[in-house]
Parts: sequence; structure tokens; C-alpha cells
Amino acid sequence: MPFDFDRIARTELIPLLSRAPKAELHIHIEGSLEPELIFALAQRNGVALPYADVEALRAAYAFTDLQSFLDIYYAGASVLLQEDDFHDMAWAYFLKAQADHVVHAELFFDPQTHTARGVDTGVVIRGLKRACDRAQAELGISSALILCFLRHLSEDEALATLEAALPWREHFIGVGLDSSERGHPPEKFARVFARAAELGLHRVAHAGEEGPPAYVESALDVLKVERIDHGVRSVESPALIERLAREGVPLTVCPLSNIKLCVFRHMAYHSMPALLALGCKPTVNSDDPAYFGGYLNDNFVALFEALPQLGAREAYALLRNSFEASFVPAERKGAWMAELDAVFAQAAA
Ligand SMILES: [Zn+2]
Repeated sequence: MPFDFDRIARTELIPLLSRAPKAELHIHIEGSLEPELIFALAQRNGVALPYADVEALRAAYAFTDLQSFLDIYYAGASVLLQEDDFHDMAWAYFLKAQADHVVHAELFFDPQTHTARGVDTGVVIRGLKRACDRAQAELGISSALILCFLRHLSEDEALATLEAALPWREHFIGVGLDSSERGHPPEKFARVFARAAELGLHRVAHAGEEGPPAYVESALDVLKVERIDHGVRSVESPALIERLAREGVPLTVCPLSNIKLCVFRHMAYHSMPALLALGCKPTVNSDDPAYFGGYLNDNFVALFEALPQLGAREAYALLRNSFEASFVPAERKGAWMAELDAVFAQAAA
């Protein structure tokens, strides 16, 4: 698209990013559970929490790595018991998404976090699906669900999780792989991803967040994923970067998460500028926004404020990538990209 990106002043960039239409492709819906809602649901369901109040819980969000976050994340999810709880959690996310001009969201959910507590997979999926339908009807936001396997558990448990979800097969579009990365390489889940492929499901996996570039390679080669979640450590391998660029593999990058979990020491050292400059296809996402200090627009703002080498050209590329990398039919992608182009054409006029 022949915009004159140089006509867009740096001071215009943040407002432009904020109002532009965008898709979110890496959001764990359980990670959108705000402390206030955790306490409200705990009260509704009679669940005792190991924190005195909202402030005490929020104060515990000082993570040092992925594992220290996961420990609190699973404690927060313990309040989710009824179908309405899953609906209310997702609905709260959609309201935030609407404020950020998100027009399409692909939500990760972790059935095993809930089945381990005796909550049926159907309760989880039906509650989330009801919020997705409501978001389309009331907010005009389209969405889809991606079922994720917890990689610190066994592949047999992942296989059982997938089979247990099949009565609701029409309600989710794909499978993913999340939780503790180190020591749990993608190839551990070869059989369950092959089964997902047989079922016609899309496949994505977290790789190259805390794990090495080799995990990104095995996610592509063994799990045959269509997107890599995170992938920011790919820059450590020139051969891998060259491959990601050549094959156009989308990377769902989560800037605030990377800082909060100490993947990068400071946003100024984030690999996003390198990923863009080397021809990769990154997108910006919020990961677990309630825990990492911000929703989608907060991630864009933090990234662009810390990295002056990112300008209007990079902003456009990231937003466009979010639509290109989504799992929707080409004509819907085209319609959103036309909206995006109109916003940039006006800004560059
Ligand atoms: Zn994630």
C-alpha cells in the first residue's frame, strides 16, 4: 500500500495505533482475570483465596520468570467453577478489547487448568462460547477459541483433553501449547498435534519465549504449527530467522509479558525491531493482560515509546500482520485490511 509513512509525525503515532482496527492472536483468557473479578467470583462460589484483598493479590504480581507467574495464575483460576464464571471472564476481556479497537480475537483457553479441579470441559467451552457470541452480537467483535495443552503435563493427558473436548468440536478452531516451556520441548506433543491435524484443527505453539531457537524449529517441523507464539529468541539463530522470513511464519509477540517475565531486561532491548528488519512477520499481543500490566493498546504504546526506531511503517506492518496471520477466510481479512488502510491513508494525507 503506497502510503507516505514519512508524513505521519511521531506524535501522531500513538493515537493512530490506538484507534486503528487490529486483531489479537495471543491472549490466554484465564490471564485476563483481573484481581477484582477474582475476588468477586471467589465470593460468588465460596472459594477461599490465600490473599487478604485485591491489593495483596496485585502486590504478588512481581514475577521473576515464567514459573513464578504460573504459580499465581493457577491460584487465580481456582475461582472459575460455573459456566457463568467463564462467560463473565471472557465478557470482561471483550469490553477491554472493544476499547482498544480489537475487531477480531483468537482466545486461548486451558481446559486442564479446570478439569484438574473437577470442572467439566463442556462447562468451560459453553461459557466462553456464550461470551464470544455475545461479543459478536453486541460489540461487533468476531472471535474464535483455541484449546491449549499444558506442556508440563504428559502427552497422554493432552490426548485425553482433546478427546474430552470433541463433543464441542464446532466451538473451537485449533489447538495450542502453553505453560512451562523449559524442559518441555514441542516434540513431546507430536502425537496429539498429529491427531489435531487429522481433526482439521489449526495448530499453534508457544516456542522461543524462554526456550531456545531449537524449540521453534521442532514446533514447525514436528508439530507442523501455522504460527509460533512468542518466538522472540529466534533472533539468536540467523538460520532460523532466515527460515521464518522465507516461510512467512507469523510470530505472536507479547512485549509487556516479555519484560514482566524478564525475557528482556528492558523494552529498549526487545527483539521486535530486529524481527521486523529481518523480514519476519511478528504481531503484537497481550498474552495475560491482567498479570502483565496492560491490554493490547498498552502493549503497542510500551513498545513504540521505548523503541524510537519503530515508526509508522512498522506500526502498519504489525497491524496488517495481525489480520494476515488470523485464522479467518481471506475475504474477511481483506475487509479489515481495507479499514486499516483507510485509517492510515487519512493519517498520511
Ligand atoms: Zn502465552
